[in-house]
Amino acid sequence: MRRRFIAALLLGTTLPALAQVDFIGEWAPRFHEDQPERIPGPELGDYLGIPVNDALRLRADSWDADLVSMPERQCNPHPATYSFRGPANLRVSKEADPVTQEIVSYTIYGTFGRATRVIWMDGRPHPSPNAAHTWAGFSTGKWEGGILRGNIYMLSVAGRNITLSVGPEGVLLVDAGLAAWAPQIVSAIQKLSIKPIRCVIDTNADEDHAGGNAAFAKIGRPVGAGGAGSQLFADIAGAEPRADIYAHINVLNRLAAAPADGWPTSTYFNESKELFFNDEAVQIIHQPAAHTDGDSMVFFRRSDVLSTGDLFDTTGYPRIDRERGGTIQGIIDGLNRILDITIPAAQQEGGTMVIPGHGRLCDEADVVEYRDMVTILRDRIQDMKRNGMTLDQVIAARPTRDYDGRYGAISGPWTTERFVEAVYGTI
Ligand SMILES: [Zn+2]
Repeated sequence: MRRRFIAALLLGTTLPALAQVDFIGEWAPRFHEDQPERIPGPELGDYLGIPVNDALRLRADSWDADLVSMPERQCNPHPATYSFRGPANLRVSKEADPVTQEIVSYTIYGTFGRATRVIWMDGRPHPSPNAAHTWAGFSTGKWEGGILRGNIYMLSVAGRNITLSVGPEGVLLVDAGLAAWAPQIVSAIQKLSIKPIRCVIDTNADEDHAGGNAAFAKIGRPVGAGGAGSQLFADIAGAEPRADIYAHINVLNRLAAAPADGWPTSTYFNESKELFFNDEAVQIIHQPAAHTDGDSMVFFRRSDVLSTGDLFDTTGYPRIDRERGGTIQGIIDGLNRILDITIPAAQQEGGTMVIPGHGRLCDEADVVEYRDMVTILRDRIQDMKRNGMTLDQVIAARPTRDYDGRYGAISGPWTTERFVEAVYGTI
C-alpha cells in the first residue's frame, strides 16, 4: 500500500470533507511467505488496500479471471481495473486544473499498459447515451464521506472533534461529546463497525468532551472482554459490562459531583498511560496546567495521528480554564509537546496528522503557526504587565488585534477579552 488515509465524517453539518485520500502513485499487492499460494494476485478481498465502496466490492467479488479467457473475449485487452486483482502493479495519476489546482481527473493504467481508465472528477456530463461505447468506458467520480488514516476517523460534531479508532477489537473514542449527541455518534459509528464500543478517553472534564461518558459506557463492553463471555463474567460478578472510561485523575475529581455512571473507570496520575488497542500502541499523555489541570492528548502511534483535546483549537484563542487549573504557560508547553511528537512529511504538508479539540484537521505546520501566535501574544501581554499596566489597560491596548480577525470573538463563551484576562492572570 502506498499510502494510508485519514477520514472525517461530518455530522450535523453540510460542509464537504475537504481533505481526502490521494490515490496517485504505484500500488502493489503485498506478498509475504504465502507467495506460492497467492500469486498471481493479492489476497481475496484485498484490492491493493484501495478503499472501495460496497457496490464495487460486490462487483469485484463476483468477478472471475476465467471471464477474460473465454474464446469470445480473446481479443479484449485486460481492463485497467484488472490491476486491482492482477499479479502486477497498478499506477494511478491525476490531472489538476492549472489555475485552481482542483482535481480534473484520475487515470488508472492497466497492467499491460492498455485500456487506461479516466475518472472525471470535474462534474462534466456523460456523452450522449447513443454515442458508441468504448471498452474503457466513460467514468465520472465524486468524493463521498471523508478521510481515514489507518484505523483512525475524525468525527466532527458541531465544531467539536471526536476521534475514533475502529478495528478488530472494536471502537475507541477520544472524547464522548455532549450526552445529547450520543445517538447521532452511535449511528455514525455503526456505519463504520458492528463491533462493540470498548472505551472512551476523556481529554478533559468539560461537558462537551465528557458529557456522553455514561451513554457510551452503558452500551459498550470493556477492552479485552468478548460479547457473550463478558456477559457471563458480568453475571457472575453481578455487574453490568460497561465500556472503560480513561482519563487523568483530575477529570474524575472534577466529575465527582456528576452521576457516577459517567465517571472515568481507569484513571492515571503520572505523565502518561499506555494502551494497545486495534493493533496499535495508544499513548495517553498528560499535559499539566494547560486548558485545565486534567488534560490528556492521545497519540495513535501506528496510524500516526495525534488527538489533542483542547490544548489546540483552530477556531479561536486557546481556552484557559483558570478555575480548573489552566495556565497560558501550560498551553504553550502543550503546543510544544505536540510539535515534539509530530513529524512532517519531507518539505511538504502532511506527516503526523493532528486532530484538534475544536476545528479542522491539521498537520505540524498548522500547530507551529498556532504555537507562534500564542507565544507572541503571551510575550506582549507579559511585557505590558511587567511595565506595570493593569488588566484594563492591557485590554484597552488590544494586544491581540492583528490576530483577532482569525481567532478573536466578541461574544460567546470565550471572548478575546476573556483570553487576554486569562493570560494576564496566569503569567
Ligand atoms: Zn472543548
